[in-house]
Formats: sequence, C-alpha cells, structure tokens
Amino acid sequence: MEAKTTGLLMIPLEKIYSADETEYSQSSVRKRLEAFFLANVGLVVTREQLLRVARDPRTGKEPENWHQRLSELRTDAGYTILSNRDWKALTPQEYCLASIEQRAIASKRIRPSKATWKAVLERAGHACEWKEDGFSCQLAEGAIDPIGGGTVRLTPDHVTPHSVDPNSDPSDPNQWQALCGRHQVMKKNFWDGATGKVNLTAILQAAGLEQKREALSFLKQFFGETD
Ligand SMILES: [Zn+2]
Repeated sequence: MEAKTTGLLMIPLEKIYSADETEYSQSSVRKRLEAFFLANVGLVVTREQLLRVARDPRTGKEPENWHQRLSELRTDAGYTILSNRDWKALTPQEYCLASIEQRAIASKRIRPSKATWKAVLERAGHACEWKEDGFSCQLAEGAIDPIGGGTVRLTPDHVTPHSVDPNSDPSDPNQWQALCGRHQVMKKNFWDGATGKVNLTAILQAAGLEQKREALSFLKQFFGETD
C-alpha cells in the first residue's frame, strides 16, 4: 500500500474501502477489532463494519464498549488508527489503520507513582474529578454509576493529553486527576484538547438512534420549534 508521511502520520494516498465480510471469532472485542484492522491495513473501514466485527460471534450481542476497545488499540497497543481528525478525506464514521507498526511509546505509558495517586485520591475525596461548564461529576469509588450503570472505579488521568505533553511527571499530583470510567472514555474519545471542550458533535455521532432522537427532540423544544 502506497502512502505519504505527513508529520508523524502515514496517510494512504487513495481512499479504498474494505470489502471484508469475514467472521472474526477471536475471544474478545479488542482481539476481533485488532484482527480486522490488521487484515485491512491501508483500507477505509466503516463504523458499521466495526460494529459487526465487535459483535459477539456466538450470541450476536453488540457490545456497548466497542468504542473504548477501539480507543485502547490506539492508546495501549500503539496502533495508528486514522479518523477524520487525522485524514480529512474520512467521514466521522470511517477509520483506517495506516500501517501494522505499533508505536513504542504506547507500552511505556507513564502512570503516577503510588504516593502521587494516593495524594490525588485524597485531594479528590475519592470521587471523580471531572468538571465541565460548572458541572462536577463527584461519583465516589465503589458507588453505582446512575447513568452508565456498574460500579465506579477511579483511575488516574493525566490532566494534559499525552499528545500535547509527553513529559508527564509521575511524582506531581497536580498533573493527575481521578476519573470514573465513563469520564475516562469521555476524555479519550470526545475531549478536544485544543478547545478545552467536549466534542459534542462526535458524541452525537457515536450515540445510538434513540439517543439521537432524544437529543433532536430536546433541541427542537429548546428552540421552540414544533414538529
Ligand atoms: Zn465521572
């Protein structure tokens, strides 16, 4: 596959769609997605294809967390999976694994030291520190998430995204915050470091049909439009 390199990213020269309809039977969502991407290097794959691959091959059940697994292929496995943020020819529903190369930095992701994480949790009062537009999450470790369901587990997040500042200091509590799982996903997938705001359009694009309808009806009501 021919490609040109812009900055650090390999961008394919041509937009060629994958016609892959293979059944992937690997044991986890992440493994199926990885196998699918590796079989379609340099090709454009759609959200629909990813959903199909992510689906449990035995039960046919569509996992809710496929987006998080996709995000892990980037952040933990170090794959360069292009989206329309990196390659403007892609629509927001399209992705492309540019090469089989895995970035080495991925395995060396810096985490806070034990003492730092303890200090962060104490500062946070053992609750999620996510804040936006005056709203503060405050979900406590071990509580039940009223929106996402499941038990809240707080994990460390570097306040500045790694892509902006790779020199995270594991010993400085001010560089770290405690986030619940839902807000970790929110930040990874939908936080725009450039504007310091949630990327609302990306959230709506990723939402299910029913949630899109709810949002539309909310906006219509908000702006005083009748159906
Ligand atoms: Zn939270």
